[in-house]
Parts: sequence; C-alpha cells; structure tokens
Amino acid sequence: MTTELQDQAEQHRLTMLRQTLTDQFAVQTARLTELTADTGDPAEAHTRAALLAATRQSLDHLAGALRRLAEGSYGRCERCQVAIPAERLEVLPQARFCVPCQQRTGG
Ligand SMILES: [Zn+2]
Repeated sequence: MTTELQDQAEQHRLTMLRQTLTDQFAVQTARLTELTADTGDPAEAHTRAALLAATRQSLDHLAGALRRLAEGSYGRCERCQVAIPAERLEVLPQARFCVPCQQRTGG
C-alpha cells in the first residue's frame, strides 16, 4: 500500500526527472544546431558526422524517455518489462533496458 506521502515523493521524483530530461533535450538540441553549422573545414567533417549521429541518438533516447514518462511506462525494461533499478536510472535516466537486456542488445 502506498501512503499519500509516498505518492507525493514519487510525483516529485518524476517531476524532477522530467525536468532533467527536458534540460538534456535542450542541451542536445543546441549541440545539434552547432554541429550542423558548416565550418567549411573538410578535416572536421568526419568527426562532426560521428558527433551528429551520437547527438541524434541521444535526442532520440531522451524523447523516448519523456514519452514513456507521459505514458506511465517509464522505468520498465522495454524488452522484459522488469523494473529498471533506480540506481541505473540515476546514472542513465533515458535507459530503455535493464542491464542484462542492454548487454544482450549490445548497444
Ligand atoms: Zn530487461
């Protein structure tokens, strides 16, 4: 059974989390804009392409986490539906899989 106090704490935690994810999303969006600005330096192009891909992937993961938060499915492994440990979510708020599943997907 959950008490009202626990509910409030949980609500607060989710609000903070949404804030963190939203902030991260803004940071990554700004980085994406920076990276897409052409510096005219062909030597940088390769590095920039790799960074762009990584940034796009982060944005994708963050957007997914925000969507799952809104849907109420946040914090569950997308593969095995087990609850992802809070410690893992603290380190990686946008985690989609539990550790064993993450290792199995290799990404
Ligand atoms: Zn799993």
